Amino acid sequence: TQTKPASTPKSLASPWGEIQVGNETLTEHVFKDISMWGDKPSVTCGTSGRSYDYMMMRMMIERCAGALLGALKLQPGDKLGLILPNLPEFVVLIHGAMRAGLVVTFANPLYTEDEVKRQFVDCGVKAIATIEMFMPVATAVGKALKDYKGTIWVGGEDDKNEGVFGLKSLLVADHQADFPDVSADDVCLIPYSSGTTGMPKGVMLTHKNLVSNLKQMMMPKMMKYEGAPGKGDVVLTVPPFFHIYGFNGILNYNLTLGYHVVTMPRFTAEDYIKCLVEYKPTTLFVVPALLAFLATHPTVKKEHLLSVETIMVGAAPTTDSMLEKFLLKCEKTKDEIRLLQGYGMTESSPVTLMTPYVYPYNKVGSVGQLVPSTSARVLSLTTREMLGPHKSGELLLKGPQIMKGYWNNEKATKETVDEDGWLHTGDVAYYDDEHYFYIVDRTKELIKVKGNQVSPTEIESIIMEKPEVADVAVVGVPHPLAGEVPKAFVVLKPNHKLTEKDITDLVEQKLAKYKHLEGGVVFLETIPRNAAGKILRNELKVLGSSGKRK
Ligand code: AMP
Repeated sequence: TQTKPASTPKSLASPWGEIQVGNETLTEHVFKDISMWGDKPSVTCGTSGRSYDYMMMRMMIERCAGALLGALKLQPGDKLGLILPNLPEFVVLIHGAMRAGLVVTFANPLYTEDEVKRQFVDCGVKAIATIEMFMPVATAVGKALKDYKGTIWVGGEDDKNEGVFGLKSLLVADHQADFPDVSADDVCLIPYSSGTTGMPKGVMLTHKNLVSNLKQMMMPKMMKYEGAPGKGDVVLTVPPFFHIYGFNGILNYNLTLGYHVVTMPRFTAEDYIKCLVEYKPTTLFVVPALLAFLATHPTVKKEHLLSVETIMVGAAPTTDSMLEKFLLKCEKTKDEIRLLQGYGMTESSPVTLMTPYVYPYNKVGSVGQLVPSTSARVLSLTTREMLGPHKSGELLLKGPQIMKGYWNNEKATKETVDEDGWLHTGDVAYYDDEHYFYIVDRTKELIKVKGNQVSPTEIESIIMEKPEVADVAVVGVPHPLAGEVPKAFVVLKPNHKLTEKDITDLVEQKLAKYKHLEGGVVFLETIPRNAAGKILRNELKVLGSSGKRK
């Protein structure tokens, strides 16, 4: 047998050692130290000023858990669907549900009724929590769900309509409920992700997955205070809590440390700047599009950013030049303001790579090093051999934060997490001699618009509904602010006619705004496919970027 050269290891281990994977539930872990900061603010709505301290938040979570079991008559293991923007009550509901042994799935509030229905039916949701603005969607979706127990109206009193429960009243009443024993191995969250291919799928994350990831992010030197929390930091954050980066990477991470999380349900430049001035945040959690706003928007002035010591960028690729522009705007050096990056996926709870709090200047632009208890492989895209430093290939990852699998989809699970537990990310990366990683490309179909996932399959299946369409492919094309936007290539049946507007209108009717065909529509004679019928998306990307039309 052939032996591999000794210089190419089988896999790369984290330089930061191991965490102890415990048996706590997510809620126990996040609130375990609140006796140290119970009277300090936990989450504040930057738009309305509504705020709860840690003790109050913990109490509301307990009451909410009782109400979900006692008033809504949900059973442990039942699914609660959230259609909520970033509000302090998001924490009450999601941790209340987890405390009660329920499983949560969250949807983007911008989703159309069809999109929410598809997800909530697939997941088997039994109750929905939402705000007034999205009540019509919640009501319509609720009707399509089996054994539906009711809708929780956040911000509302009890409604006269049967089956609507005002959150305020639920929290005031004392509900008799037996809390179940929740195991750390239980699935508690099912966010949706298209992974490397196909339609969005439910990602089963356990308490252990999510808690492990929090511990991994907090290992000494991966964070500012080397494991000594409670320094009164204020965090301003807009990335949505209904995405894994916002929920675990930002919200739970900062609550575990006792920080003050300031957020807002809807981003406006004016409100954001108001929050910078009023709350003087020490840390900003952003996606690249928000970093670009801070770096380039004329209304953001250096005076607004005086309190900022750290800025964490995640969820999508950012560029060195944008990081540099941000420093120019602040008139600060890399010494005075830490620009940290993180890389992850919904399927990995999410963080797998992170820049340590202190890192050499020449690593700006890297997504950092493997977090503790995480290993990586970089495999050649052609030979599937394990590659050494400075060579780009598909990134594979392994660790306690990797999902249990896709909900009701063993085939997709097997295609994504192999028998040895390696998550095949579909991202192309390389690492340098100090084991800092750089993400350079994506082999998977996924399109990321301002950090939001867009599945080409989902858009393609909608365009295929048009009887005039013979074939279709959707790819992402570069966009200066959004990162990427979707563009469709369409083949019409012989002697059939459709305009670009016919297609963009249909997509706009069915899908949330960030999935709209901002990149336009190109009509082709054929879609390039390989012998197995797989769309050659890279060819289309080149065609799409050159703007060539038939
Ligand atoms: P999601 O599951 O929505 O978090 O999307 C995960 C995908 O987003 C990854 O597989 C990458 O393609 C992309 N991504 C996340 N973070 C980064 C980053 N820091 N740099 C480049 N791409 C990223």
